[in-house]
Amino acid sequence: MTSALLIIDVQNDFTEGGALEVKGGAAVARGISALLERDAHRYGVVAASRDWHNAEGDNGGHFALDEEPDYMDTWPVHCVAGTPGAEYHPELDLSRVRVHVRKGQGLPAYSAFEGTTDDGRMLAAVFRDVGVTRVDVVGIATDHCVRESAFDAKRAGFDVRVRANLTAAVNPARVGETLRALEVAGIEIEGEPSTPA
Ligand SMILES: [Zn+2]
Repeated sequence: MTSALLIIDVQNDFTEGGALEVKGGAAVARGISALLERDAHRYGVVAASRDWHNAEGDNGGHFALDEEPDYMDTWPVHCVAGTPGAEYHPELDLSRVRVHVRKGQGLPAYSAFEGTTDDGRMLAAVFRDVGVTRVDVVGIATDHCVRESAFDAKRAGFDVRVRANLTAAVNPARVGETLRALEVAGIEIEGEPSTPA
C-alpha cells in the first residue's frame, strides 16, 4: 500500500496577512513541515496544490469585482498567478514535495484534482502511476478546497483521510458540518481541526 500526502493551498493569500486570510494558516504550514520532517518516509509521494488565478477578469465569477464577496461562492481577489500572494507560505517545507499542482486559471477550482501538474498531468493519474492507494489530505481551507479535494480523491477511488489538525477553515463554525459530510462519504477524519478562538 502506498500513501500520498496531498497539501492543499498553503499559500500566502490564504494565511495571516493575505488577501483571503484564514486564521491558523501559518500554524498549518508549520505543522505540515513538522509532519514532513517526522513522517515523510511514510509517504510514497508528496504533492502540493496552489490556487493560481488569472490577473484579468473575474475567473468565472470567482472574484467579487463589483460587489462584496459572500465568502461562499465569491471571494476577494486572491492567488493571482505570479504574485507573492500565490506563492507557498514560507514556513511550508517544499524540499520533499515532488508534485506541484496549479488550479483555477480562469475559473473556480476548489479541488486539487481539477488542476494540472507542471508537466500538464492530472493528479489522479500521477498518483495511480506510482501505485498510490491512500491519500492523506491537509491544508487550507477545511471547508472549501480541502473538502472538495477529499471528496474528489474518494470519487477517484482512493482511500482518503483528512488530518483535521493540519487544516484551517475560512468559517470555523462550518467545520463540524464539513467533517460530518466527509465522514458520510466514507472519508476518515483524524485529529481535531485547529480553530483558534
Ligand atoms: Zn480561488
